[in-house]
Amino acid sequence: MEPDMLKDFALVNKSSQRDCLRCRRPRTTCLCESLPDCPLRSVGTVLILQHVFEAKRRMATVPLMNLVLRNSQVYRQRSFRVARRGKAAG
Ligand SMILES: [Zn+2]
Repeated sequence: MEPDMLKDFALVNKSSQRDCLRCRRPRTTCLCESLPDCPLRSVGTVLILQHVFEAKRRMATVPLMNLVLRNSQVYRQRSFRVARRGKAAG
């Protein structure tokens, strides 16, 4: 195994020890007892817009949304444009 791969493995292993494997929050703030056993089904699809920096945070809420809502899709970008009525986003 390459030295960089060992370093990555060590980081992942260390992270999995301190974070809950289900909700991915630090074990001291694990919310799994409050989450439903299986994700709820919504009438429509819930679109979640997440900034790329939030995706790197340990306290990000998007992993929780995926555990709570079955019909959710995550779009991860640095910025989002809002289309005006009658015009396509570009
Ligand atoms: Zn948890």
